[in-house]
Amino acid sequence: MANGAAPFLTSKLQGFGSTIFAEMTALATATGSINLGQGFPDYDGPQEVLEAAIDAIRSGRNQYPPGSGVPELRAAIAEHQERFWGLRYDPDTEILVTAGATEALAGALLGILETGDEVALLEPMYDSYQACIALAGAITRPVTLRPPTYAFDPDELRAAITPRTRVLLLNTPHNPTGVVLDLEQLRVIADLAIRHDLIVISDEVYEHLTYDGIRHHSIAELPGMRERTLVVSSGGKTFNTTGWKVGWLCGPSELVAAARAAKQFLTYVSSGPFQPAIAVGLRLPDAYFTELAADLQTKRDRLMSGLREAGFEVFGPAGTYFVTVDIRPLAPDGDGYAFCRSLPERCGVVGIPNVVFYDRARHHEGRHLVRFAFCKRLESIDEAVTRLKALS
Ligand code: PMP
Ligand code: GLN
Repeated sequence: MANGAAPFLTSKLQGFGSTIFAEMTALATATGSINLGQGFPDYDGPQEVLEAAIDAIRSGRNQYPPGSGVPELRAAIAEHQERFWGLRYDPDTEILVTAGATEALAGALLGILETGDEVALLEPMYDSYQACIALAGAITRPVTLRPPTYAFDPDELRAAITPRTRVLLLNTPHNPTGVVLDLEQLRVIADLAIRHDLIVISDEVYEHLTYDGIRHHSIAELPGMRERTLVVSSGGKTFNTTGWKVGWLCGPSELVAAARAAKQFLTYVSSGPFQPAIAVGLRLPDAYFTELAADLQTKRDRLMSGLREAGFEVFGPAGTYFVTVDIRPLAPDGDGYAFCRSLPERCGVVGIPNVVFYDRARHHEGRHLVRFAFCKRLESIDEAVTRLKALS
């Protein structure tokens, strides 16, 4: 977030000096707080996946992998897309492995956008979107989702699309609101994308993290969409391996080629021995994916009831790692940023102020909202709740 002008920083990145995740995780470490800020689990992923990475290192797979990703990972991504979402991709030409979903998004945006192009997206938005759109010299056109339901309003999306709109950047399940777009909503978005001949970049990193029987759908499943959509995901959330940064994108070969052209000059390649390990994860039986979501649903419910008991107004998510609260019952000035900065000192808990997920012109929309992550051990959640209750 902006802390005044940074002297050597390009004008394109003014205001994007350091991410909130770095700031809040550093604060958590410095104060020994429970980190319900940055979305990473405080527990490990499946043993088979961890062992596969160790085997890959031991068997000498420690040099540059191929530019598009190791063949067994590309094959496993293709199998996974077909198994779960009924989408078929050619592993040789329609799948690109990246340094996390972050690089998939950066590669796609930098590879596709011209200066002055517009990108329509849902706000609040994950923080790298705006920065990458700015790096590409393009313009963000946000459509704001509002609590308590964060319902998507098709008319607002229609109004955000102009003759300069080139890309529609979707995120479902949605960080930070936890909204999971249903097929009907996706159809409305798809109709607009087709009518205005837009490219869709669909960030689906939380594809397996949906609750209460709700199922994720990719917009690429809809008629006329596969050919204009880049689906982005990564292994971080699905296998509790956020530090491995194995991500990917899938789409028609020309779109993948555009993203690859930019990606090859960002990292070229990354995460060599972790790529075959994520391939093992993607091939785990269905039960793994079901249990992952069921476990997180229990954690979500535990954190939500604790936050309610602590006095917050709580907005329940249908997916992702995150619960948003309105802090005003506890902090009448409604300054979420100040609240998050003081929280570690006051009670040893870290959260993320949602204001950082809004365009500067609409900071008032997110000023009083704070995001807490529930991808943590139940002991961590319970201890955080005990500490938060001491605030009121
Ligand atoms: N998109 C969203 C919506 C996210 O929450 C995150 C955070 N993990 C990312 C992309 C980045 O994913 P990765 O860590 O795989 O780069
Ligand atoms: N996606 C995670 C979150 O929203 C963390 C991302 C990051 O640290 N850049 O918390």
